[in-house]
Amino acid sequence: MELNYSPEELAFRDEVRSWLRENLPEDLRTKVERYEGLSREDLIRWHKLLASKGWAGPAWPEEWGGPGWDATQRYIFEEECGFAGTPPLVPFGLSMCAPVLMRFGTQAQKERFLPRILNADDFWCQGYSEPGSGSDLASLKTRAVRDGDHYVVNGQKIWTTLGHYADWIFCLVRTDSNPRIRQEGISFLLIDMKTPGITVRPLILMDGHHEVNEVFFDDVRVPAENLVHEEGKGWTVAKFLLGHERMNTGRIGVSKRELAQLKELASRQPAGGGRTMMQDSRFRDRMTRLEVELQALEITNLRFLDQLRGGKAPGAEVSMLKLRGTEIQQALTELMMQAVGMQAAAFAPDGLQQAGELDTLTSNLAARYCNFRKTSIYAGSNEIQRNIIAKMTLGL
Ligand SMILES: Cc1cc2nc3c(=O)[nH]c(=O)nc-3n(C[C@H](O)[C@H](O)[C@H](O)COP(=O)(O)OP(=O)(O)OC[C@H]3O[C@@H](n4cnc5c(N)ncnc54)[C@H](O)[C@@H]3O)c2cc1C
Repeated sequence: MELNYSPEELAFRDEVRSWLRENLPEDLRTKVERYEGLSREDLIRWHKLLASKGWAGPAWPEEWGGPGWDATQRYIFEEECGFAGTPPLVPFGLSMCAPVLMRFGTQAQKERFLPRILNADDFWCQGYSEPGSGSDLASLKTRAVRDGDHYVVNGQKIWTTLGHYADWIFCLVRTDSNPRIRQEGISFLLIDMKTPGITVRPLILMDGHHEVNEVFFDDVRVPAENLVHEEGKGWTVAKFLLGHERMNTGRIGVSKRELAQLKELASRQPAGGGRTMMQDSRFRDRMTRLEVELQALEITNLRFLDQLRGGKAPGAEVSMLKLRGTEIQQALTELMMQAVGMQAAAFAPDGLQQAGELDTLTSNLAARYCNFRKTSIYAGSNEIQRNIIAKMTLGL
């Protein structure tokens, strides 16, 4: 097994690193590092910068404008971006809808949508979950009834991340209400968010921010040409897409940067004097364990890469990356809170910040902690990932 990068891979890493150093706008990097909210414009600005370099679709084939990188290069790129503190590339268009279109779309759909996704001309969101249909996705009820050359859609989606920024939504809808088994009779539709009958309502999370939404469909007419794959075969598309969704949840580069940030926070002298958290042996113990777990996750990732180099596609193992990656991300937010002590308790500390007692990073830690409870829920909850590992890997 080869767990080290080859000289060519190291040269590639250096190329990515130096490009990021020169091209990542300082204001965006600062926002990311201090956990400030990113606007639609921020996200699109970064996406377009990468698109101009030909790096916006790391996993895209050259045929559709991608760089044609192999799995190791993609991994290196993602980790370097995470470590440098770039804004995320919003996955819904680039790494969810696009692979689906490449695999199942008609030529006309590919030509219409793919270039616009790559260039961030359209902002996409994901319409899978519904009230009561999250883990049990196949129970979804949003209906699409064929009416001439349109489908008429009625129902509701929930937890739609960045739906308020989106131009398009890809949806799982029920086109047959009496299927033999529930996984049948589901279809995959592309819906223009400007279509009459769509209402987007914000859901404010416990961090106080607007990130997710409810999306309601009332007699929304969708051209039948926006159906992807065959009618009733949407479950095949859904399963294909979920594999892609979980590939990117390890986020090792981001966690490495945050670990460095944690060490810096823990080394700060408390306002009233006294020992730093770094001098506390119990704190150091927790932090060191986390660092070791992060290293173990990185090595696990490199092991999968080695398999990929040998032509073996990852299967249920992807669930391990999601599980451990998100546990580490959450533990980092907990330790950061602990590192700043009393100051972390200030949830909306405008007064303290104005008084110059809190920097932007510290004042955003509590909100970040609350926000990151989501990571063990989305992209298939961690309990569901454990079920997958038990079934597929351990044979239970
Ligand atoms: C911040 C955030 C963003 C999201 N963004 C999107 C998005 O953009 N698009 C979208 O479609 N969805 C999105 N989701 C929805 C997400 O996919 C669902 O929340 C997730 O699938 C869980 O479904 P649920 O909320 O209905 O919970 P449930 O499925 O009701 O689960 C409740 C609890 O029961 C556990 N559980 C359920 N079934 C089992 C089982 N079989 N075995 C063991 N435990 C089980 C779960 O792990 C969980 O702890 C988002 C969610 C969050 C929190």
